[in-house]
Amino acid sequence: MSIAAEITRLQSELPCGVTLVAVSKTHPISAVAEAYDAGQRVFGESRPQEMRAKWEAMPKDIEWQMIGHLQTNKVRMIAPFVSLIHSADSARLLRVIDAEAQRVGRVIDVLLEVHISSDESKEGWEPAELDAYVEGGEWRELSGVCVRGLMCVATNTDDMTVVRDDFRRMKTLFDRYAEVFGADFDTLSMGMSSDYTEAIECGATMVRIGSTIFGYRDYTK
Ligand SMILES: *Cc1c(COP(=O)(O)O)cnc(C)c1O
Repeated sequence: MSIAAEITRLQSELPCGVTLVAVSKTHPISAVAEAYDAGQRVFGESRPQEMRAKWEAMPKDIEWQMIGHLQTNKVRMIAPFVSLIHSADSARLLRVIDAEAQRVGRVIDVLLEVHISSDESKEGWEPAELDAYVEGGEWRELSGVCVRGLMCVATNTDDMTVVRDDFRRMKTLFDRYAEVFGADFDTLSMGMSSDYTEAIECGATMVRIGSTIFGYRDYTK
């Protein structure tokens, strides 16, 4: 199916209340433009330079969302325009996002990335660390940051019982933190091409879909 046809199919398939993030990382501007022409306005990228270049080239009504690990020294590159950072994974990164947001007179929306999977990946807070951070309350002082919810990548396995278990634990955590963070805390970003159906069943409000829309990714380019 073409990019436009996939966008149309997904947009009609997803329940209302679930936002589609079209993950365009590694794909050229022409691919983003095709999705844009099909009505897509929310795009996910994982490299700040690439996101910035696409932001410069494309119409300004696009919401550009950072989904990949973000180094503190790259925050400045995206602070003026990024609409949501899914991958806020340390107190230090949150402080830098706060400072850069204030520098450009914005409040930047973020999600706290949780390491929920049983994979070795170092990305995301360990649930116990995140509990301590949330209880500590430092986030309350960050006037340039609005914590909108949680994000995760599920365990990389074909065993959907494991994947569902990851998503269920995320939903439990999300409901618990919603009471602490209050009304702005409304986004649970989970589910990718291989598992978005399960994620939605478990309460995802945002799914990040790349290869289903844009096809295979060539990281050598
Ligand atoms: C690349 C990526 C996606 C999209 O993955 P697909 O399997 O291509 O849908 C989603 N989330 C994150 C964090 C990613 O890095």
